[in-house]
Amino acid sequence: MKKRVLILGAGFGGLELASSLSEALGDTIETTLIEQSDHFVFGFSKLDVMFGMAEAAAVRVPYKSIAKPGLRVVRRTITAIDPAAKRVTTDNDVFEADYLVIALGADYDVAATPGLAERGYEFYSVAGAERARTVLPTFKGGKAIVGVCDAPFKCPPAPSEAALLLHDHLEKRGLRDRSEITLVIPFGSPIPPSPDTSKALVAAFAERNITFVPNRKVRALPAGARVAVLDDGTELPYDLFLGIPKHIAPAVVTASGLTEQGWIPVNPRTLETRHPGVYAIGDVANPGTPKAGMFAEGMAKSVATSLIAALSGQGKPVPYPGAGSCYVEFGAGRVGRVDVDFFSGPKPTGAFHGASTALRADKEQFGASRRARWFGLKG
Ligand SMILES: Cc1cc2nc3c(=O)[nH]c(=O)nc-3n(C[C@H](O)[C@H](O)[C@H](O)COP(=O)(O)OP(=O)(O)OC[C@H]3O[C@@H](n4cnc5c(N)ncnc54)[C@H](O)[C@@H]3O)c2cc1C
Repeated sequence: MKKRVLILGAGFGGLELASSLSEALGDTIETTLIEQSDHFVFGFSKLDVMFGMAEAAAVRVPYKSIAKPGLRVVRRTITAIDPAAKRVTTDNDVFEADYLVIALGADYDVAATPGLAERGYEFYSVAGAERARTVLPTFKGGKAIVGVCDAPFKCPPAPSEAALLLHDHLEKRGLRDRSEITLVIPFGSPIPPSPDTSKALVAAFAERNITFVPNRKVRALPAGARVAVLDDGTELPYDLFLGIPKHIAPAVVTASGLTEQGWIPVNPRTLETRHPGVYAIGDVANPGTPKAGMFAEGMAKSVATSLIAALSGQGKPVPYPGAGSCYVEFGAGRVGRVDVDFFSGPKPTGAFHGASTALRADKEQFGASRRARWFGLKG
C-alpha cells in the first residue's frame, strides 16, 4: 500500500508542500490536500481589493486548475483532528494518514474588540476588504485610523502598507488635506527585526503627515463616541476605522488539544509537533517566526525534505531556516523589500532594499511564479 500524506489547508504552506511532494515523489505516494474553499487568495491581494486596484473575482485563484501526480485536492470542511491517531474528520468523511501536516492558517476573532464589527472595517479577510472597498468612496475626509487590535498578526508590514496606500487613495480623491491618518501598532517600530526598514517607513509616514502610534493596541470602538480606545486608555477620535482583528487558531485546531498559548508549538527546525509524524506549518504554528506567507512557504519546503527523506530515502531533512523576504508597499507604486533572518544570529536581523518600481515588478513575478508552480497557471 502507498504511504498516505494528509495536508490540512491549501494556503501558502499547504500548496507549497503539496507541490514539493508531487514534484519529488509523484504518484509513488498518496497525498491528499483538504481545503474548505474552492479558491486561494494571496494575502497582499486584500490590499489591492480594499483600495480598488483589483476586483475580488480577479484575485481568486481556483483550486480546480491543480493537476499534479500523486496529489488529490478535496473540498471539505475539517471538523475534527485526532493527532494521536492521525485521523481527520470532515463534514463528509474521515481520512487517515501515515503523515499529517496541519496548515490551517489563522482565523480572526473580530468580536474580541468590542465595536470593531459594528463601527470599524477589518480588511484582513477578502469579505472585509470588499466591505472596506465599498465604504472608502463614501469617506468625505476626516480622521482615519489604521489600527492593530492584538498581536501576533499576519504580515507585520501590512498595517504600515495600508496607511501609506490610504494616503495615496485620499490624495487621488483630493481629500488628503482634509484628512488625518493615524497608524496604531503594538510594536515599538514598524518592522522590529529591521531598523533600516523601520526607519524608512517612519520617514515615509513623516513625509506624508501620517501619525505613528507605536507600542499600542486598539482595545474597543465604544458605541456613540466615535473614538478608538487604546490599551492605555487613550481615546483617538475617528471617522473611518480600518482594523486588523485579533488572530486565533481555527477552532478545530484548538479543539484537537494541539495548541499552547493559542498556537501549535513545534520544533522550530523540523516543525514536528509532540505527536510523531504530525507536523504544523504556517500561521497556525509557532516556531518563533512571524505569520507570513514567505515563512509558511519556508516551513513547507523544510517539511517536504523530511517527508521525502522518510518516504523515499532521497536527500536528507533540511532544517527550517527561519528566514525569508517580504515585499513592502511604500505607496506611489513603489515597493521595498526586507530580508529577515530569525535563527542565524543571536537576535533577528532584517536587511532593507529601498522602495523602487523594479521591486514592484519583482513582487508581481513572485505572485506569478506561485500561480505557475502551485496551480499550473501562466501569467
Ligand atoms: C492584508 C494582508 C497582506 C499580506 N501580505 C503578505 C505579503 O506581502 N507577504 C507574505 O509573505 N504574507 C503576506 N500576508 C500573510 C499571508 O497571507 C499568510 O501569512 C499566509 O497565507 C499563511 O499561510 P498558511 O498556509 O499558514 O495559511 P493560509 O494561507 O491562511 O491557508 C490556510 C487554509 O486553510 C483553510 N482552512 C482553514 N480552516 C479549515 C477547515 N476547518 N477545513 C478546511 N480548510 C480550512 C483555509 O480556507 C485556507 O485556505 C498578508 C496577509 C494579509 C491579511
